[in-house]
Amino acid sequence: MSAKVLDGKSVRDQILAELRPRIDKLKANHRPPGLAVILVGNDPASEIYVRNKIKTCGDMGIYSEKITLPDTISTEELLGIIEGLNQRSEIDGILVQTPLPKQVDKHRVLVSLLPEKDVDGFHPINVGYLVAGIPAPRACTPAGIMDMLRRYEIPLAGKKAVVVGRSDIVGKPMALMLLHQNATVTICHSKTQDLAGECRRADILVVAIGRAAFITRDFIKPGATVIDVGINRKPDAKLIGDVDPDAMKEVASAYTPVPGGVGPLTISMLMANTVRAAEQRLCSK
Ligand code: NDP
Repeated sequence: MSAKVLDGKSVRDQILAELRPRIDKLKANHRPPGLAVILVGNDPASEIYVRNKIKTCGDMGIYSEKITLPDTISTEELLGIIEGLNQRSEIDGILVQTPLPKQVDKHRVLVSLLPEKDVDGFHPINVGYLVAGIPAPRACTPAGIMDMLRRYEIPLAGKKAVVVGRSDIVGKPMALMLLHQNATVTICHSKTQDLAGECRRADILVVAIGRAAFITRDFIKPGATVIDVGINRKPDAKLIGDVDPDAMKEVASAYTPVPGGVGPLTISMLMANTVRAAEQRLCSK
């Protein structure tokens, strides 16, 4: 039997469709949700990501503002711009696209955002809320994966989950979210010994390492659910994930394709975080 494809585009469409009436209600009662996206420099990949975020806001009726800054900007100047956005009442969410230029102190930038406007969920306060299991903006990519697993009714409680990669934006929050759903979680990284053996124990295998097709069939337990977060570009410019696509199809019971799996979820969760931030700010008035 061939593995089930976990279709990120269809989940994205469901998430966005569920947000529309909430946005309409906000517009009718107050004003549309507002998102400010800060882009520093002209990294081509960042420009594409920001364009897609702004376009999705437009499609959804979310007010958006793109703030493009030169890559010579100082930390102080960037902090001043964020402070201005923190103060503005019609801006519910602020996103600072990474990577930032070397001279900018990323940590100071991150902590300068008001935690309730941090729609990326990266502020240490929001990370703390995640650890404690308290509602707050959550990192978009792992939150989207959790939403997808829920919609496809993939059981997590008591299952063995292995997360490969321990970044602050994917691996670590992913592991915590799986733990909160009562999975038994192992986090692997570049120093893990016998990575294939660890992965083979996984009922749910999430891979976010940024290495094209690194995870081969001997890493996958037959019947596992495999979530491939990786986005890598092949020499022919096609996209490939961190997991060998044939291995997922033939050994797993369900998997996310690349492209069309995890990628579409991230922006939809950004929209969800922005709408929630607007609801909370407007309802608490
Ligand atoms: P990072 O580079 O920040 O982290 C990579 C992690 O993978 C590190 O923890 C590293 O370990 C680990 N790692 C690297 N090589 C190996 C290896 N050979 N064996 C085991 N572990 C390894 O990456 P991100 O988390 O930011 O992104 C990961 C991938 O996911 C990328 O391809 C990125 O493009 C993609 N991505 C996709 C998104 C989407 O929307 N679909 C969103 C975000 C990311 P160590 O800590 O020991 O160095």
